[in-house]
Amino acid sequence: MLTKNKKAIRPLAAAASALNNKTGSWRTHKPIIDPKICVGCSLCAKLCPDACIAMSPDENGKMKALVDYDYCKGCGVCAAECPVKAIMMAKDY
Ligand code: SF4
Ligand code: SF4
Repeated sequence: MLTKNKKAIRPLAAAASALNNKTGSWRTHKPIIDPKICVGCSLCAKLCPDACIAMSPDENGKMKALVDYDYCKGCGVCAAECPVKAIMMAKDY
């Protein structure tokens, strides 16, 4: 049983603790989203491992992706997966 096994490997941080652990300082690159290209599909928001991309309406009511840089660790998953290449990774150091 896991709770009685002293040799069990346990995570250093509890699951779903990302809101308590700002990872923005880990970053060497940051995602820059071009709102003119973003089609609001929300794929990046769904795939971001730190859940730090939110979808928000622009002045015309069209949904666009926004990054919370306090939590973005610069992994580049969003840029790699965006179907219309609206996200560019730029140096952040
Ligand atoms: S994956 Fe690309 S197009 Fe889709 S919401 Fe994110 S930035 Fe916009
Ligand atoms: S670079 Fe990684 S952590 Fe930052 S917004 Fe994109 S998927 Fe999320």
